Amino acid sequence: MTDQLRPIPTIMRAAVARTLGQPLVIEDVPVPTPGPGEILIEVIACGICHSDLHAVDGDWGTPPMMPLIPGHEVAGRVAAMGDGVTDLQPGQLVGVPWMFWSCGTCEWCLAGMETICPSTESTGFSKAGGYAEYLVAPAAFVATLPESVDPIAIAPVLCAGVTTYRGLKRTGLRPGQWLAVLGVGGLGHIAVQYATAMGLRVVALDVDDEKLALATSLGAERVVNSRAADPVAAVRDQLGGTHGSLVTAAAPIAFEQAVGLLRPGGTAVYIGLPGHARDTINTSISRLVESEITVRGSNVGTRLDLQEAVDFAVRGRVAATVRQVTLDDVNDVFADMRSGRIVGRVVLTPR
Ligand code: NAD
Ligand code: ZN
Ligand code: ZN
Repeated sequence: MTDQLRPIPTIMRAAVARTLGQPLVIEDVPVPTPGPGEILIEVIACGICHSDLHAVDGDWGTPPMMPLIPGHEVAGRVAAMGDGVTDLQPGQLVGVPWMFWSCGTCEWCLAGMETICPSTESTGFSKAGGYAEYLVAPAAFVATLPESVDPIAIAPVLCAGVTTYRGLKRTGLRPGQWLAVLGVGGLGHIAVQYATAMGLRVVALDVDDEKLALATSLGAERVVNSRAADPVAAVRDQLGGTHGSLVTAAAPIAFEQAVGLLRPGGTAVYIGLPGHARDTINTSISRLVESEITVRGSNVGTRLDLQEAVDFAVRGRVAATVRQVTLDDVNDVFADMRSGRIVGRVVLTPR
């Protein structure tokens, strides 16, 4: 039984992947019904993350559900509540991240590492996402958003924000230390801002000068074009290496460079996910051993990370550079993303 709070249509528009590697199809599909503990959310905005493109291209070892409605940077309003949902209000502004659900009982969930729960479900991958007018999500896993936020501006924080925020925490860096951000795309341009807000000093690396200019405008003190120079030598020459590095690019070479440009004792955090065809790197064992280098992965963020990451944005310390499009433009955005033409983040609205 669903406690329906206002009239909701039975049919909605959605961008649907029916075949891996093929354009999405805009079609009418049934509006989902929230089960116990779930809410129906009317989508206002959904960011387009590179992970959505990896998902519909089948880049990763595990294929997504098919047909798939992608999208996991969702800002919207509670439209209906399933049985047992008591801590949200109809009409309340909420955000839906990649981590749709985790079990809450495995050893990782119990240890506060729900991001690596083996039973986790993923929005816009194993569950229908936000490239639609409505989606369903478990009430316990959505972020509550204050009325003061602009849903279009906040959408990228739901993945790009929380993911880089957690990744930065996992570098273990202290204020005043140098961080290299490799890849200044949707994730990277927000990473520069979290890092700066945390008191870190940023050197940004990308293959595109326009993205490096954006990084500078957002607080990066140095930039290095990975195409024009040997980025490892450039960072080591200029700074003696960095204390930490954060890889948000999806090119394997950047993961190698992220280790090479560290100072002894440094930590590289890997966030980008190039896919199973490009999933390995070469690195020097002796460098890792003799310089006591740490390499860590970082996967999205916990619910606590999410509320903290949102709080930075609510306080105005972090703001995505956003271009707004509608659902009908999604294939053009994917084409731009494939060729690296997007500066900042593109956010779609259903209409
Ligand atoms: P994006 O396309 O917006 O940005 C990628 C950036 O990398 C671009 O600016 C591009 O110019 C730059 N780049 C390309 N080659 C480079 C190189 N050799 N050196 C430096 N920069 C280079 O993508 P995005 O949405 O920011 O996502 C980035 C990656 O992060 C994707 O692989 C995505 O799947 C992954 N991701 C991982 C998580 C996680 O939890 N680990 C979460 C979200 C996204
Ligand atoms: Zn994402
Ligand atoms: Zn679990």
